[in-house]
Amino acid sequence: MDIHLGSGSKLDAAAFVAAGKKRKRVVDEDADSAAGSGDEAEESYEEVKMPVSALESLTKDLKEVYTVLQKSTARGRLLAEQFRSANPSFEPICSHITKSDCLKARSAAFSTTPATICDRVHFRPLIRPHTDPALGHCSYLNTCYSEPTYAQSPSIPPLPSSQNHMSAQWPKPQLPSGLGAGGRGKEKAPCRYLHYEVDWDAGDAGKGDDVKKDTTMRKKPYRLGIGLGPMGKGLTTLPPQWINCDLRRFDYSVLGKFHVIMADPPWDIHMSLPYGTMTDDEMRAMPIPALQDEGLLFLWVTGRAMEVGRECLRVWGYTRIDEVVWVKTNQLQRVIRTGRTGHWLNHTKEHMLVGMKTNIDADGNLKFPPWVNRGLDTDVIVSEVRETSRKPDEAYGLIERMCPGGRKIEIFGRKHNVRPGWLTLGNQLGGDQIFEEDLATRIRTRYPERAVNVSTVPQYS
Ligand code: SAH
Repeated sequence: MDIHLGSGSKLDAAAFVAAGKKRKRVVDEDADSAAGSGDEAEESYEEVKMPVSALESLTKDLKEVYTVLQKSTARGRLLAEQFRSANPSFEPICSHITKSDCLKARSAAFSTTPATICDRVHFRPLIRPHTDPALGHCSYLNTCYSEPTYAQSPSIPPLPSSQNHMSAQWPKPQLPSGLGAGGRGKEKAPCRYLHYEVDWDAGDAGKGDDVKKDTTMRKKPYRLGIGLGPMGKGLTTLPPQWINCDLRRFDYSVLGKFHVIMADPPWDIHMSLPYGTMTDDEMRAMPIPALQDEGLLFLWVTGRAMEVGRECLRVWGYTRIDEVVWVKTNQLQRVIRTGRTGHWLNHTKEHMLVGMKTNIDADGNLKFPPWVNRGLDTDVIVSEVRETSRKPDEAYGLIERMCPGGRKIEIFGRKHNVRPGWLTLGNQLGGDQIFEEDLATRIRTRYPERAVNVSTVPQYS
């Protein structure tokens, strides 16, 4: 939280130091790379405290306001408890990145060589023949069109070039496959920036006993009476459904109505993209109003589409009620600082507008759909970048918590976007998959030439 107290007293990194918190900052701005600032705090801070000097300068009233703002509410704590991830795989990352640097730092701190590295996650650099470590960390954006680390999987046989490999402990080098990561023809050159992988070996498994103990001792979470969504209890989620189509021509009336729409349109943002774009007029003319009587629309916008998108929301009959920001991180979970996107500032984030279509009461106020869960998530997602245009999966979690169950449609989705409970439409999806019989019937009637088979819902044991 940024708390402004007049000039010079904004709570920032310096404030941590003033407040006596330990915060190391060893950053060589020039040597630092596309990867991020490298100034992660050593510890994760539970709360942001105002420096004592700044606190003392406040009036009594402001001090009270500050004290109240510092307190979490019981409801907030209970909600956080309920939605706490049951997945114990979220682990803190060592600020020293590699095991050897961690060891060096610990040796320096203890003035003797400790036998172990810390319990946090470490990374190891993938040094390949074309890697130039002096360039710094790969941002996975414009510098790396064709060589995602996952294309370097050890399962892919090594090429002869692996002979001059620099170190036996790193995975064998491969020439880039040209697959994935949104390669764009002439730019499919090997990425010379540093790539990393998680450095884990069997010896690490014994560590973190404290964490395990903590997990087993965790209190049973309370269950709050959070709304069960528009369709209430006992609803089975259908497996992923999708329809391959040109969304400029498809007859939306066959689709029925939805509680939630998510769209990541191919806006004409005056940039070269690996797929066709749609003009502003085509976007405005989209029959989105036919898809929803009452519900939520999540619309990804970027560049000039931040304005065009807002205009489309209005034209389609929506009120913008929120805006989610996706802060992009790189493979080391650091904020991307120089992704070479953006004309004026480097772009580190993307935006998802949240629109609501609803009725207005006699006083002119919006009548919010009673089934929308409010106050669960924040409007910031921090997540790693992947292929060109690919959006973070966290967005689905956020939407599904706001609207559990209910009919959901994603338009302009790709194969990796298909998801249980969602109907995905796009022109890169391949053959259709439908589970809703009435939907299949409507499509067959309207498009007799389309081969529409209703798949049987698989029975999970
Ligand atoms: N959100 C997606 C990325 C969407 S990119 C993700 O997370 O991966 C936009 C998609 O819209 C591309 O797949 C593009 O091929 C598709 N598209 C472009 N024009 C289209 C049209 N007229 N009809 C359907 N899909 C279209």
